[in-house]
Amino acid sequence: MDKRADKQTGWSEKLKEMPVEEVGRLIEAATLDRQLFGELAEAADAVRQQYYQNRVFARGLIEFTSYCRNDCLYCGLRRVNATAERYRLGREAIVAACREGYQLGYRSFVLQGGEDGYYTTRRLTAIIDTIKGEFPDCALTLSLGERSRADYAEFRRAGADRYLLRHETASPGLYARLHPDMSWDNRRRCLDDLRQLGYQVGAGFMVGLPGQTCSDLAADVEFIRRLQPEMVGIGPFIPHRGTPLAGQPAGGLGQTLVMVAVVRLVLPKSLLPATTAVGTIAGDGRERAVMAGANVVMPNLTPLAERKKYMLYDGKICVNDSASHCRGCIEGRLKRVGFVLDLQRGDHCDWRRERAAG
Ligand code: SAH
Repeated sequence: MDKRADKQTGWSEKLKEMPVEEVGRLIEAATLDRQLFGELAEAADAVRQQYYQNRVFARGLIEFTSYCRNDCLYCGLRRVNATAERYRLGREAIVAACREGYQLGYRSFVLQGGEDGYYTTRRLTAIIDTIKGEFPDCALTLSLGERSRADYAEFRRAGADRYLLRHETASPGLYARLHPDMSWDNRRRCLDDLRQLGYQVGAGFMVGLPGQTCSDLAADVEFIRRLQPEMVGIGPFIPHRGTPLAGQPAGGLGQTLVMVAVVRLVLPKSLLPATTAVGTIAGDGRERAVMAGANVVMPNLTPLAERKKYMLYDGKICVNDSASHCRGCIEGRLKRVGFVLDLQRGDHCDWRRERAAG
């Protein structure tokens, strides 16, 4: 192995074993030192190349409800935000969005929404059933928050392939401050249930939350190392004016990219989105996340009439762009930095078809 390749795999091996205190110091150092960050990003890019080459998977994102029963301090959809505009998409509207996505070439869809009691187990299984019936060649990801194990089992039986549930922060104290009336133990229980039920599981966290330190971010790395999720969503915290965290600074691009690179090195085969939030804090944020190890993008398929109402944070990008514009825009951005948009299902590279079929 040449010296450069050796150095690259070296970082990955080191990070898989590194004591958590040291991970915290590395995150702190790499956030301040561009050269150290460059080294991590180069190593992350090399390990991603090994498993996924220069392909970046696309998932068509359908934000199907802006109602939420929770009060997460950072989120614009929190229940007590009276200025938030609320909407729900019915089964027909959701399937129509999938149809539009299918015509654009997408073979992977994500249904995301607040925790909305309107969507009972029956309603959701009917939606999943319809989507999987009409698009059997597509992967379906759910991202609708905490539900019972029985619900997760029903959704899986109906054909859902993957589930995204960011752990948000693995520091129980910080978690408790940001999530009134929610519990870190239940969040973890959900992730364990999803894993046991045979989903491809996505965890993830925000970077730059008010009060968050590099040790908190190291705890996120440790959590990911133990859980070994197939996917990890990492994005900067961005304030929303209708929340108690309005006026707090957003997470930094530099530190977000450090975390993408570190997680790629810790989980070389993972699916890591270049998130909408990272594209919101910097015009070229998603491209830079891809260069630092990300390999998924989630272009928006939510009907334009509702798009602006899914305001998790201020300034969210793509709220006025048609689905076909988003498809072309992201493809062009990736191409300019040497990556290709891959429209296939985009399973984790260890995922076997038999398992995917349940
Ligand atoms: N109810 C679902 C979906 C939540 S929205 C669930 O609980 O999983 C999707 C993600 O947006 C959240 O997991 C959170 O990490 C992120 N998010 C919410 N508000 C944000 C903010 N102000 N800045 C950045 N990301 C935010």
